[in-house]
Amino acid sequence: METATTRPCLTCGKPVKGRIDKKFCDDYCRNVYNNKSKLEESAFVKSTIAILKSNRKILAGLLGNEPIITQSKAELLTEGYKFKYHTHQYTNPKGDVYYFCFEYGYLPLEGERYLIVKSNPQPLKKSTPPNH
Ligand SMILES: [Zn+2]
Repeated sequence: METATTRPCLTCGKPVKGRIDKKFCDDYCRNVYNNKSKLEESAFVKSTIAILKSNRKILAGLLGNEPIITQSKAELLTEGYKFKYHTHQYTNPKGDVYYFCFEYGYLPLEGERYLIVKSNPQPLKKSTPPNH
């Protein structure tokens, strides 16, 4: 009795015969599928980076040459800011959480206002010399 099942090739949809873990009819179909996955992945990465760069530009534009400003949520939304996207967070010693897009960040304040800041480059930690 023939017990092997056939499944459609993930690329072209033709029935695949052979080992149960075989997903493609041949190397060509496997390569096409893998290249497509890579393209889709890079498209996702590209669009995410574009949003992060746009957020960074909005914060930089609002901040201008000021070291620190407050801005309303409405203003940020008008500029097209996407709050879901940020590169990292920073929690200060008081426990306030800042959300950063690269070197620009914001701290949510009360009343739908935001404190916008630019972070300084991290100083290199100096190792303290041993105390004799
Ligand atoms: Zn195929």
